[in-house]
Amino acid sequence: MPNLSLAQIRNRLILSARMIMTDHWPGEDGSCPLCRYPACLAMAGARAYLDSVGDPYVPTKARRAPGGAQGNPAG
Ligand SMILES: [Zn+2]
Repeated sequence: MPNLSLAQIRNRLILSARMIMTDHWPGEDGSCPLCRYPACLAMAGARAYLDSVGDPYVPTKARRAPGGAQGNPAG
C-alpha cells in the first residue's frame, strides 16, 4: 500500500463520495435508483462527508432543474 499524503487521501475520499452521489442521486420519483429508498443512506453519508469538506458537489444529471431553466446550456 503506497504512502499517501493526507491531501491525497482526502482527494480520494472526495472522488469516492462524488461517485456515490452520482450513482445514488434520487430519480424523478424521488427515490434512489439503486437502493429504491427515498432516504438513501449511501447518499446521505456521501453528502455529509462532502459537506464536511466544503464541497457543494451536485451530479451533472441533477443540475437541470425541471421547469427552472437557468439558461446554462450544456457544453
Ligand atoms: Zn442509494
